[in-house]
Amino acid sequence: MEPQVSRAGVVSCRGSGADGRPPPVLTSPTPAYSEDEVSFFSQQRSPLLEVKGNLELKRPLVKAPSRLPLSGSRCKRRLDQMEDVLEPEKKRTRGLSTATKFATSHHRAPVVTTVPQTQGQTAAPKAPRKTGPRCSTAVATVLKSQKAVPAAPAQKPGTAAAPPNLGGKKPSKRPGWDLKGQLCDLNAELKCYRERTQTLDQENQQLRDQLREAQQQATALGAERRTLEGELARVRAQAEQGQQELGNLSARVLELEERLGTQEGLVQELQKEQLGLQAERRELATRLEEQERRLQTSEAALAGSQAEVASLRQEAAAQATLLAERGERLHGLEMERRRLHNQLQELKGNIRVFCRVRPVLPGEPTPPPGFLLFPSGPAGPSDPPTHLSVLRCDERRGTLSGVPAPPTRHDFSFDRVFPPGSGQDEVFEEIAMLVQSALDGYPVCIFAYGQTGSGKTFTMEGGPAGDPQVEGLIPRALRHLFSIAHELSGQGWTYNFVASYVEIYNETVRDLLATGTRKGQGGECEIRRAGPGSEELTVTNARYVPVSCEKEVETLLLLARQNRAVARTAQNERSSRSHSVFQLQISGEHAGRGVQCAAPLNLVDLAGSERLDPGLALGPGERERLRETQAINSSLSTLGLVIMALSNKESHVPYRNSKLTYLLQNSLGGSAKMLMFVNISPLEENVSESLNSLRFASKVNQCVIGTAQANRK
Ligand code: ADP
Ligand code: MG
Repeated sequence: MEPQVSRAGVVSCRGSGADGRPPPVLTSPTPAYSEDEVSFFSQQRSPLLEVKGNLELKRPLVKAPSRLPLSGSRCKRRLDQMEDVLEPEKKRTRGLSTATKFATSHHRAPVVTTVPQTQGQTAAPKAPRKTGPRCSTAVATVLKSQKAVPAAPAQKPGTAAAPPNLGGKKPSKRPGWDLKGQLCDLNAELKCYRERTQTLDQENQQLRDQLREAQQQATALGAERRTLEGELARVRAQAEQGQQELGNLSARVLELEERLGTQEGLVQELQKEQLGLQAERRELATRLEEQERRLQTSEAALAGSQAEVASLRQEAAAQATLLAERGERLHGLEMERRRLHNQLQELKGNIRVFCRVRPVLPGEPTPPPGFLLFPSGPAGPSDPPTHLSVLRCDERRGTLSGVPAPPTRHDFSFDRVFPPGSGQDEVFEEIAMLVQSALDGYPVCIFAYGQTGSGKTFTMEGGPAGDPQVEGLIPRALRHLFSIAHELSGQGWTYNFVASYVEIYNETVRDLLATGTRKGQGGECEIRRAGPGSEELTVTNARYVPVSCEKEVETLLLLARQNRAVARTAQNERSSRSHSVFQLQISGEHAGRGVQCAAPLNLVDLAGSERLDPGLALGPGERERLRETQAINSSLSTLGLVIMALSNKESHVPYRNSKLTYLLQNSLGGSAKMLMFVNISPLEENVSESLNSLRFASKVNQCVIGTAQANRK
């Protein structure tokens, strides 16, 4: 019996039983797979493609239906069904009245159906869909059930065997005596069993083949299962990787969305800014147009101006030439002025003496009328006074003779006499020309001589600070010099001024500009030559302060007053007992013409010229005062002697006899110009000292120092 493949793919086993009945048909009218199963297989996609599809659709991964044999309850249920199906077979087998039918089929569609042929059934219960082990199980179950069926109950020996129940008909029972018949029945039954055994052997063999085939299929399916499991693992890994990538991509998408939001905000801001800038640009464009219009106007104006500038340049060049010519001429005139100025000064005398009488101060006794007389000059009252007469009543002379002696008139003549009402400005006007000589390069020395309280300091430094009306010669002279230097700078002259202020007391030199710890301290200063072979003298440890304006000079004068005030507390009225020498080193240069000039201007406030009566009884303080006075008198005498020696052109001039003349030696004689103020007290009580001063001044006034030469280099 060969298996045949039906159109439905079912293998049918056809055969005939021993009883001639048609063999059990192993076929099924139903196909191995139902239509939806066929559709399922045809539509079934590769698991890989399905996973991929799920990934694309973002669906959770659904486990693909396994093509492996079912197990568990489903398999069990199929076996139960099979047992149900086999149940009639069992019955038939027991009764040997039924034919066994079973079918094997293609491994994908096994159908095991037992159809009791006797009942002529063609429709089998719904076949299980799956094949393989399930089929084997079913077959094994069938075999098992077949084995479990006893072939035939063994008859007890000695008992007549029942005739074989063939065809389902029970043979009629033979009578006991019909042994032959019974034997015949038994033989028939034996034959039937033998055929049955043979059939069962064949079936057994067939089933063994099927089992082997099923095992091979199981092995193949196991391999396929492993492959599919590997594939499934790989797909799962891919799916996980895909999920991870998806997660990363989602995070990336979120990040990008966030950035997009930020960028959009930025874009909006930029758009706003762009709008603002566009408006600004429009405004600027408008302004630019306006500026361009103005520029055009300006350019037109500039062109006109340039033409004007060109013509002005030509004019300026012509002016510059003219200016150069005039500058040349001016310089010549300046030099001529200096020459004439010097001539004038020489005509006035290189040594001049001015007499100044101070006014009577409040609280002082009024002098008798006619005590001091200021006779007019030859030209009448309009002439500046140059004469002074002092009327002196000599009481001692009158007492001796018994008759009051008539007052003695002492007449003096000077270059100029200033009566008590003369102001500081009036006095300075007379010396301004002389001060200017210092700028021209001639050394100038101005002295204030007289007894204490006669107005020397007032003349030199001035009255109380802050009142410009009472400013003295020193500040006025410096202001005048600064002013002329400034004017001369227009002609190419450059001037430098360096000031020093020292005090000579008891033949010691002290710096009045000392500051800090040296302030108010005496001594320590020495007069030295500036260098070996140098004619220039300098005071060691004294400050030489460059000055260029009145304010600086004021500061220096204030400092000098403070220094004197400190000294005054230590030694009574030392300022009156010392010479104060204000020196201004003037140096000028005309760089363009290579002309230089340098000369000192000395403004000297001399110590009081009063004398002490040596016949008076002297205490220790008075003896000290006498020594001071002798020193002062000595230095003043030396000054007189020096002037005399210079006037007489003596070979030896005793400069070294006093510190004062030694310090001033370069400003006396030679090309130097000297002016002496003799300050007179208006009081009658001071008449003796006044006469002494006037006599000294008259001697000086008689001196004529040789023609001055400017210190030009
Ligand atoms: P000296 O320096 O000769 O000792 P001062 O210059 O100190 O004398 O003068 C003594 C006093 O007389 C001061 O109070 C001063 O103000 C005053 N005095 C001097 N000369 C004049 C003057 N021309 N006009 C007004 N007051 C003067
Ligand atoms: Mg004084």
